[in-house]
Amino acid sequence: MATERKVVIIGAGCAGLTAALYTARNALEPLILEGASPGGQLMITTEVENYPGFVEGIMGPQLIQTMRDQAERFGAEFIQKDADSLDLSERPFTITAGGETYEAQALIVATGARPNLLGLEAEQRLMGHGVSVCATCDGPFFRDKYLLVIGGGDSAMEEATFLTRFAGRVTIVHRRDELRASKIMQERAMNNPKIDFLWSHVLVDIIGDRETAVTGAKVKDVKTGEVKEVECGGVFLALGHTPNTELVMGQLELDAKGYLVANGRSALTSVEGVFAAGDVTDSRYRQAVTAAGMGCMAALDAQRFLESAE
Ligand code: NDP
Repeated sequence: MATERKVVIIGAGCAGLTAALYTARNALEPLILEGASPGGQLMITTEVENYPGFVEGIMGPQLIQTMRDQAERFGAEFIQKDADSLDLSERPFTITAGGETYEAQALIVATGARPNLLGLEAEQRLMGHGVSVCATCDGPFFRDKYLLVIGGGDSAMEEATFLTRFAGRVTIVHRRDELRASKIMQERAMNNPKIDFLWSHVLVDIIGDRETAVTGAKVKDVKTGEVKEVECGGVFLALGHTPNTELVMGQLELDAKGYLVANGRSALTSVEGVFAAGDVTDSRYRQAVTAAGMGCMAALDAQRFLESAE
């Protein structure tokens, strides 16, 4: 027997939790499939200083827990399972997760995006301890440090340029001798006196521990194979993001970059009754507060949809 719900939300990062809060408070009794490792990208962040309302900042996991508690207070029900498959061909939509089947009149997809990583052991171990995937989030913690930014796209240029507000010096390490970034972003970085480039090099290890944070890195010249050690106070990975859309592929419209397409200034997707929120639909802002805002939009859109369908 399938469990039937008015609203099912997939994902429990900032977007999913805000959608949960709004739908629960508006008596839609949402069920949230929060996945085996819930909380989204804030769980790999340390201090969050730019989420409005917290004068002294708040730790990422604590912010997530607070949002979850707030949604639970209004009756949101959480299930710690990954959604395995979806059928959006008819309503109610069908979702399977861990052997159970759920039916939903409205579905909010808030599955987020994941930053691309290199697969180094030290990357995971030192994430939030000198390794970062978000300059906007963590830049102010790196005052006067020497930093490496890895990547050659627009994000790498933008992050490096932003980091020079705080850092003493920034080196962009790129695996080729040509950048993928747009001309204007390249020029901005190249004309910045605090930025230099290490061409045709890849990051092969990061040195440090969770107490000292990052103290250095090992980089390899891809042309000669030579590995050298550089002292640095932080490593920013700007290797792009991958939206978590595997579940909806073939059923909802995705854009050329693989992000879920939402309809203009709303959370409506290409299937009526399915709404998108947060980083899974946003390659541009990727902030906790914008994800939360989109979670609210998706909840209100879902509510209106259910009212009009009654
Ligand atoms: P991109 O995919 O454009 O760039 C990723 C970079 O990481 C590339 O230079 C790539 O190298 C490098 N890279 C990927 N994997 C590895 C690896 N395993 N080892 C070493 N290097 C690696 O991602 P971005 O996040 O930069 O940009 C995503 C999109 O967002 C783009 O469309 C971009 O234009 C847009 N954007 C726009 C901004 C703006 O306009 N203000 C700001 C930021 C992003 P290689 O080049 O060799 O493939």
